[in-house]
Amino acid sequence: MISPLHEDKKIQALRDIIDEAERIVVVTHMGPDGDAIGSSTAFCNVMGRLGKEARVVIPDMMLASLRSVPGAKDVTDATRYPDFAKQLIEDADLIVCLDFNALKRISKLGDLVAKATAKKVLIDHHLDPEDFADVTISRPEMSSTCYLLFKVLCALEMFDDIDKKAAESILTGMMTDTGNFSYNCADPELYVVVSELVKKGADKERIYRQQFETHSEDSIRLNSYALLEKLEVWPDMGAALITLSRDELNRFHYTKGDTEGLVNRPLAIPGVVYSAFLREEDGYVKVSMRSLGNFPVNEVCREYFGGGGHLNAAGGELPGTLENAAELFRSLLPTNKELYLGGHSAAKSQ
Ligand code: 5GP
Ligand code: MN
Repeated sequence: MISPLHEDKKIQALRDIIDEAERIVVVTHMGPDGDAIGSSTAFCNVMGRLGKEARVVIPDMMLASLRSVPGAKDVTDATRYPDFAKQLIEDADLIVCLDFNALKRISKLGDLVAKATAKKVLIDHHLDPEDFADVTISRPEMSSTCYLLFKVLCALEMFDDIDKKAAESILTGMMTDTGNFSYNCADPELYVVVSELVKKGADKERIYRQQFETHSEDSIRLNSYALLEKLEVWPDMGAALITLSRDELNRFHYTKGDTEGLVNRPLAIPGVVYSAFLREEDGYVKVSMRSLGNFPVNEVCREYFGGGGHLNAAGGELPGTLENAAELFRSLLPTNKELYLGGHSAAKSQ
C-alpha cells in the first residue's frame, strides 16, 4: 500500500539501534515549526509505546500555535531549562535528530550532541546533510520530515504503533511544510498517507484551523499594515519586498510567529515570482524569501543574505540595518532577472 523507502540497510541498522536504546532524546531545529514539532513528538510517542524512555529537547521556544500538537507540552525547551536539557542529552543512549541537516541548526545543543556518547540518527529532508550520525536517512525530495518519518516507521514495521496522537503530529508537519498541500504536493502518495492518518483518527479540520486560521488581533493588524503600507512590488522584475522595523513590530506587540506566512502573500500577484520579507532584529536583519517555479531563493540567500534553504523557501540573517538589507535586495533585482528569469518578463514563468 505504501511504496518502499529503498533504504533497507539503513532501516535494519536503525532497527538495531532502537532495539538497544533505553533512553532516547529527540532534537530538532531552532525556531521549531510544525514539521519539527510534529516529527519529534510523533517519534517520541511511538518510542514510548515501545517501552522506551523518550523525550524531545528543542533549542528555543516553539510557536504558541504548536502547543496543541499532541506531546508538545512535554517538550523540553533548552533555553528555559538548559541544565535539564544538557543532562538529558548526556544521559541518552540514542539521539534522534529530526528536520535539520547541520548541527549549527540546533544552536547550543549542537556542541552537546556532537560530544554526546549516544548513538545518533538523522532523519531529514533538507539538502546536504552533515555527516555526524551513525545512520542518516536524508530525502530532500520529500516535502516534510513528517512524511519521511511516516515511511520510515512503516519500513520499521511500526505502522500499528502510530496512534491517533502520533497521526495528528505527523499530519501537522505534512500540512505546515506544504501550506496545507498547496506546494511541494505533487507526490500522489502524500494523499495515501493522509488517508491512513485520518483513518487513525487525525482531525484534519482541527489541525488546519489551529495551524492556518488562528491569529491574534495584533497579528492580523500587523499583517494588514505590512501589506497596505510596506509592500513594494516590481512587476517587471518579478519581485516583491516587505520590510518591518523594530518600531513597527513593537507598535503591534509583535511576538514570534505573528508574521508567519506574510512573505507568501505577494506571490499571489500575477507576475511576482519571488518575494522577500525583512524583519529588523537587534543588530541584524532576519531574511525570509519564497518563490514560484524554478527561481532559486536558496541561492540568493546563500550568496547575499548569510543563509540558505530550499529552492522555493529560504532565509538568512544579515548584519546591519534594515534599510541596508532592503537596499541590497533592491540592487539585486536586475541581476536576479538576468540570471534566473532569462531577462524576460517574469509573468511568463507563472
Ligand atoms: P523561514 O522563512 O520560514 O524562516 O525559513 C524557510 C526556510 O529557509 C527554512 O526551512 C530553512 O531551510 C531556511 N532558512 C531560514 N533561515 C535560515 C538561516 O538563517 N540560515 C539557513 N541556512 N537557512 C535558513
Ligand atoms: Mn521540514
